[in-house]
Amino acid sequence: MTKKMVFVDTSKCTGCKACSVACKEWNELPAEKTQLLTSYQTQKNFTTKTWTYMTFIEKYEDQKMNWLMRKAQCFHCAYPACMKACSSGAISKTESGYVLIDQDKCIGCGYCAENCPFGVPKVDPIAKKSFKCTGCIDRVENNLLPACVHTCQPGALGFGERDAMLTQAKKRLAEVQKTHPKSQLYGEKEMGGMTYLYLLLDSPEAYGLPVNPAAPLSLTIWKDVIRPVGSVAVGGAAAAVVLGVFANLFRGNYRSTDDDSTNHAHSKKGGK
Ligand code: SF4
Repeated sequence: MTKKMVFVDTSKCTGCKACSVACKEWNELPAEKTQLLTSYQTQKNFTTKTWTYMTFIEKYEDQKMNWLMRKAQCFHCAYPACMKACSSGAISKTESGYVLIDQDKCIGCGYCAENCPFGVPKVDPIAKKSFKCTGCIDRVENNLLPACVHTCQPGALGFGERDAMLTQAKKRLAEVQKTHPKSQLYGEKEMGGMTYLYLLLDSPEAYGLPVNPAAPLSLTIWKDVIRPVGSVAVGGAAAAVVLGVFANLFRGNYRSTDDDSTNHAHSKKGGK
């Protein structure tokens, strides 16, 4: 399957939250108690049972309030920090661009949750499993639109081949920039290029998104520097152990040969 992309055009979003409901419905995720956090935002964060939700930032400019609305979910990064951090090899990436958690392999260690720059995966401490958006891979692989895209009425969510969606997004950006000069794309290059591309009306910071998202330095140092060096060291130590065993065997054989000859000499002597 070729690389796919979901284009989230926030300039068309009306904040109806139907995407969030559709995600719950398709994935059979139960409803959760919500609360009014701002004048319209009711969900604070991802949970093991809420894989996508709407954020509503109230931006005041020239004594006017504007909504900065965004559907949040896993970005399905090209170089996913969660996958790099996973201790049980449960997280993988499909050729089409989706980052998936194999629930049979997941042990709920929580490293994915700790290392995702967007705080996406959430761990159920009782089930000891980590959960996040699957990108509706089960629908996509059966030529269906992701549930959120299928439901979006104002056409704020688009889905298709990566290159075609990128072209569409850039064309749309040029139009939107005429009225919103700060608008920009987010996800084309971030984390190596993400499967979810956003057209934001303002800077990423204004939406509470990291400007240059990256895997934590501690993870990079551990996985790319210490572990390979450790493997070489362990490899070296293992080689030393093997060499030591052979050396001892050789020495043992030599000694036993030596001892045999000594014994032989002794027996000879004894036989005298
Ligand atoms: Fe993994 Fe977080 Fe990227 Fe999703 S957004 S692929 S959970 S690192």
